[in-house]
Amino acid sequence: MTGTKQYDVVVVGGGPAGSTAASFLAKAGRSVLVLERERFPRYHIGESLVTGMSPMLEELGVLDECERRFQRKTGINLKWGKDPQPWRSDFSQAIGGHDHTWHVRRDEFDQLLLDNARELGADVIEEAHVTEVLTDETGTVTGVVYTHQGTKHRVTSRYVVDASGQSRTVTRKLTGVTWQEDLRNVAVWTYFEGYTPIDDPYDIMVEALDQGGWIWGIPLSDNQLSMGYVLPADQLSEATRAGRSQQEVFEQGIANSTIARTMVEKATRTGEMHTARDWSHVSDSFHGPGWVAVGDTAAFIDPLFSSGVWLGTSGAWLAARAINAALDNPKDADQALGNFDAVYRRLYDDILAYVRFFMDPTRLREEYMERAQGIGRTYIENSRVGFITLISGVKALPELVSFDPMGEEGMLEVIHEVATAAAAR
Ligand SMILES: Cc1cc2nc3c(=O)[nH]c(=O)nc-3n(C[C@H](O)[C@H](O)[C@H](O)COP(=O)(O)OP(=O)(O)OC[C@H]3O[C@@H](n4cnc5c(N)ncnc54)[C@H](O)[C@@H]3O)c2cc1C
Repeated sequence: MTGTKQYDVVVVGGGPAGSTAASFLAKAGRSVLVLERERFPRYHIGESLVTGMSPMLEELGVLDECERRFQRKTGINLKWGKDPQPWRSDFSQAIGGHDHTWHVRRDEFDQLLLDNARELGADVIEEAHVTEVLTDETGTVTGVVYTHQGTKHRVTSRYVVDASGQSRTVTRKLTGVTWQEDLRNVAVWTYFEGYTPIDDPYDIMVEALDQGGWIWGIPLSDNQLSMGYVLPADQLSEATRAGRSQQEVFEQGIANSTIARTMVEKATRTGEMHTARDWSHVSDSFHGPGWVAVGDTAAFIDPLFSSGVWLGTSGAWLAARAINAALDNPKDADQALGNFDAVYRRLYDDILAYVRFFMDPTRLREEYMERAQGIGRTYIENSRVGFITLISGVKALPELVSFDPMGEEGMLEVIHEVATAAAAR
């Protein structure tokens, strides 16, 4: 093992959440080390963004680069609920003025964010596999051990941010997890070229199936489409036991659809079949002595509204400010990290509650919209505006932007109400 190096913060995982936390901490002048197991660019699922990320991407300095590189995303096209016709929601209807975001190839997007963290001053080591968590006699996390090019290294820091995605490398043994049993799904997906676009070609297409489950169609470019089938895990296990391959299950899902089927019937499948567990969960705590959890490590919600990258990076943005305050004033660490935990958890709770309501495909469009309007603490008169403002993440922006880690929790509620009402006027 090599000698110990010391940083203010070590970030485990260089995905969107880790890069975002590292970027904001480096920008604030902190010494930061990111340890990433893979060499980038590396493949990842999670390709459709929401507009609630735009102010953060701007603050990170990568908004123009996203505009230059990625396919525009203008809204969501849904075939869902009792209404026989598909219906759409356009980002431009949301309060706040962000009329589009992007569909991204995650290998490229994640590399952009990680390179940006480097440019902002973070040290980044790729192919660095974190294997152990260091703690002192009080149980406070003080660093990690990682393997790089066959050698073990030890690094200590005042905080360790666990952004290792579903691996939960650091926090696995430090906090429990609540698994949302009703959202115990799996996804099977692949890629097509030469697909037929829907009428609004830059929208994500989301279609519920009468047989259960739903399908996404994400136009990564004018030629390439990502298409996935999300279904209850039990349903896939049953099909597998009956001897059906994942490809057959996927093809059956497409055959049961109407819109998805027309998008790919003349297309050529170009990618292999992928599958992943898609089981919503939340950590019992997002922080503890010497550690903070962000991204999928902290919480994961079914990808129905493409909220994963937004939620993870928003949590990382909050975490960076809280850690910064805790480093400035260690005696206030509990308050700063407690506020981060409370606000982050509220973002998760709002989206989770809504995804649960939406998962019941027997309602009318207006019912879905009215529930969105009513969720949380927002005053928005129009239910269409309420719907897109919630699912785009824009509703949470006042709370995110004005987050004060040293504020009183009660005050945050007040700021949120005032800022949201002002934005809605
Ligand atoms: C089927 C499916 C579809 C989805 N669709 C969408 C979508 O359309 N839009 C959306 O926003 N989200 C979507 N998501 C969610 C999205 O993929 C995640 O929320 C997002 O990638 C979380 O980012 P992260 O940075 O927390 O984790 P990750 O992106 O997983 O990054 C974690 C990083 O940590 C590294 N790592 C892990 N262990 C270690 C270790 N021990 N040492 C060092 N490094 C380590 C990994 O290599 C990885 O690079 C989807 C998810 C699924 C399952």
